[in-house]
Amino acid sequence: MTARAPPRADTLVRPYSGCGLRGSKARTIDAVGFRRGDACVAPTIFRHRPISVGADQRVRPPSRATIPTVPELPEIEVLRLSLEPLLVGDEIRSVSVLSPKLREPLDHPSLDVLSGARILGLRRRAKYLLIDLSGGRTLVVHLGMSGQLTLVPAGAARVAHEHLRFALSSGQALRLVDPRRFGLAFVAETAALPSDRHFADLGPEPLVDGFDGATLAAAALGRRGPVKGFLMDAGVVVGVGNIYACEALWRAGIHPSRSVARIARSRWDTLAAQVVAVLGDAIRQGGTTLNDFVDGRGESGYFQVSLAVYGREGEPCPRCGTPIRRMVHANRSTFYCPACQR
Ligand code: ZN
Repeated sequence: MTARAPPRADTLVRPYSGCGLRGSKARTIDAVGFRRGDACVAPTIFRHRPISVGADQRVRPPSRATIPTVPELPEIEVLRLSLEPLLVGDEIRSVSVLSPKLREPLDHPSLDVLSGARILGLRRRAKYLLIDLSGGRTLVVHLGMSGQLTLVPAGAARVAHEHLRFALSSGQALRLVDPRRFGLAFVAETAALPSDRHFADLGPEPLVDGFDGATLAAAALGRRGPVKGFLMDAGVVVGVGNIYACEALWRAGIHPSRSVARIARSRWDTLAAQVVAVLGDAIRQGGTTLNDFVDGRGESGYFQVSLAVYGREGEPCPRCGTPIRRMVHANRSTFYCPACQR
């Protein structure tokens, strides 16, 4: 395999420095707070009742409606970790643009230019996957609501809703399938990415050093409104979707409707730590399904996570036993414990 390109030193973040994904047994991820080799150590900041899956534990399967079907930050990160060792060093031989548009038009000429480009590295910003290429260009992919980016043999037949295919020198092909077409793929100058309109207004990444209670407290200054909406605001912090906002607030013991103007500084610290923990847990859990990404069997590329409150209306709170409640705000379901979230 070709040697990796050195890490780039631009301003877009790269949350994990490596992936440790070498063979089926070594599935540790350099997530925040986890050391290599500590694959299944619970975060010490907060010990909730274990609900994650062990070999001898019974699993509470999420009800149908609650299975995450939209790729969130952890899925994009696991996708990045799984694809990176397989793609870096490979070369794009040809590009097939099979549809006129996804969420935005697919720019035929700029994608065509990628023929002959070498893959230098994979990064992530919010829910965008960034594939850095030789020639100072980056291929940006967003999976939208239903996108799937998979590696298949170059000769694999075209499938329904396949919009884009990159044939690679190695004999593989990178294929973007997206039935609902909310995804996105475009080429940008690598150096200009931070000011690209898709990235310019994004807030900080939750999984990098420096994201903490101070970050949230500062963003909350002068603001009002429910903390849940605040947490899901990409200008405040990126990548905290509905599911992970519910879970982080439950872990932190904060009521989702509480006004951001009424949250003490120490509670911001707790909340930030739980955002990091819940995303890290999901990435670790997703890491156990990496074979599904890399061998082509896992067409969906999405994984289920163990959830404490999301989708569990009426079930006992794992911490205090009170039935979980659901409320709807801005068309989104919020799940919370009325007793231990204040
Ligand atoms: Zn409770």
